[in-house]
Amino acid sequence: MKYIGAHVSAAGGVENAPLNAHQIGATAFGVFTKNQRQWEAKPLTRESIRAFRENCEKYGYLPHQVLPHDSYLINLGNPDPTALEKSRKAFLDEMQRCEQLGLDRLNFHPGSHLNQVSEEKCLVLIAESINLALDKTRGVIAVIENTAGQGSNVGHTFEQLRQIIDQVEDKSRVGVCIDTCHAYSAGYDIKSREGFERVFAEFDRLVGFSFLKGMHLNDTKKALGTRVDRHDSLGEGLLGLEPFSFIMNDPRFDGIPLILETPDESRWPAEIRLLKEMVR
Ligand SMILES: [Zn+2]
Ligand SMILES: [Zn+2]
Repeated sequence: MKYIGAHVSAAGGVENAPLNAHQIGATAFGVFTKNQRQWEAKPLTRESIRAFRENCEKYGYLPHQVLPHDSYLINLGNPDPTALEKSRKAFLDEMQRCEQLGLDRLNFHPGSHLNQVSEEKCLVLIAESINLALDKTRGVIAVIENTAGQGSNVGHTFEQLRQIIDQVEDKSRVGVCIDTCHAYSAGYDIKSREGFERVFAEFDRLVGFSFLKGMHLNDTKKALGTRVDRHDSLGEGLLGLEPFSFIMNDPRFDGIPLILETPDESRWPAEIRLLKEMVR
């Protein structure tokens, strides 16, 4: 079973996200459980939590069909101890919000070394950050997203994702999300059938499909290996439609949220329909 959706708005309260997802014909959705551009957020009210759970039930979204995303401000690999502490605190809050909402995974960008420490050291900090958050929460999987490798972002290679996972104590509560745009800009050529098979065989060898807890389905404006993160609508960018049809017909991508983060949200209903129709 393929669960297909988009990263929908939670304006007016997180409880509106399942409604917004239902309206565009989605069987999965991504969401921010707080304003993604602010450090602090008011705690979720009991009313909001209750309404979110009710709406998920009403529209048929189970936890494994929802992929919440944390704030873009958080850097779990920040070499500065004070800044790292701030990020860890915010990340724990995000994990706890997912816990309260009855969700089972939280998607996040691993972090950046800011040219102050080695990649290696940054990956150690990230794994430590994950361990700390897992220790204080229950039932929520920390889902590391592959990055395009822009600036000093780590997590753009499968080896780096593996290095983080290796240092996480509870392997049952760590996973990964592969973003197709990020993978391509990071140098993984998933455009052709041959390339797609090669890249995901490598992914399986280095990370393992058992850790795959979600996908971001985005076309890209930037060429292979440019390490620049610019999403495009499906079929409008350099990837074209083919890799998305490979995913839709590959059982290794069953049972996880497949989330569009494409720039033109007026196209989401059509993009979701297109993806559903690709299934042969
Ligand atoms: Zn993404
Ligand atoms: Zn991106």
